[in-house]
Amino acid sequence: GEALAVSARVAPLGSRLVLLLVEDLTEARRIEAVRRDFVANVSHELKTPVGALSLLSEAVMDASDDPEAVQRFAGRMQIEATRLTNLVQELIDLSRVQNDDPLEDAEPVRVDELVAEAVDRCRHQAGTKQITMAAGGTADLHVWGNRGQLAAALGNLVENAVNYSPARTRVGIAARRVSAPGGDMIELAVTDQGIGISEKDKERVFERFYRVDPARSRATGGTGLGLAIVKHVVASHGGEVTVWSAEGQGSTFTLRLPEAAAARDRTGQHPDLD
Ligand code: ADP
Repeated sequence: GEALAVSARVAPLGSRLVLLLVEDLTEARRIEAVRRDFVANVSHELKTPVGALSLLSEAVMDASDDPEAVQRFAGRMQIEATRLTNLVQELIDLSRVQNDDPLEDAEPVRVDELVAEAVDRCRHQAGTKQITMAAGGTADLHVWGNRGQLAAALGNLVENAVNYSPARTRVGIAARRVSAPGGDMIELAVTDQGIGISEKDKERVFERFYRVDPARSRATGGTGLGLAIVKHVVASHGGEVTVWSAEGQGSTFTLRLPEAAAARDRTGQHPDLD
């Protein structure tokens, strides 16, 4: 009688264990496939500019008696070299945000400084497209985290807003404090009046190397890694990123990050707020 009762109790547990194991294996396989895809993608992305550079250098050699052609080819070589540099830099950034614990040197970070830095980073490009940038609500807000990573995350969002918007539009950055179950959070919303993202692409834009329009992304110097970096940064900070978009009308990317004071209350640490 007792054995039966025990096995009756173990059986459902056993099948759940088997299920968990199967799920684990599936997950392991999925991670392996993602890793393999990533390596294949990186190789492809590196090969493209390297191949172009190699062809262009041959063209330069063949055109040595035509200074104008040499100039033209050299100009294109410079573009490809810049592309390669950007890609390598973003790969380094991505590996950093995936591997380092950003909270090891976490500190209260002023939101107005993060915003000013992000705007600065895009000032030139926004200027050439006559895009107006406006920020509001940032005064006296502090988020808790790694300054460099947070700056990279917000910078990527603002850069995208400028990149994927037509000339003479507006990019807005709005900050506010919102209360959440685990403590107050800071919400940072980057809104553009750009091309927007379709419902089906919305899910995928955070994947490494996913681009809605690869040609357009490359033309603006995009690597397809920006939003993957953003996603990792917010996840490791205990935050989240969401996107609202309407095709042809624009997009809003919203970061939610722990407020510095709330993070201090949670962790018992005492960051110096200035
Ligand atoms: P990229 O270097 O191509 O900009 P990201 O990872 O930053 O890479 O973004 C992935 C893709 O998401 C972009 O190629 C673009 O298609 C789309 N995207 C990102 N931000 C925006 C935006 N603000 N408006 C429209 N599309 C966007």
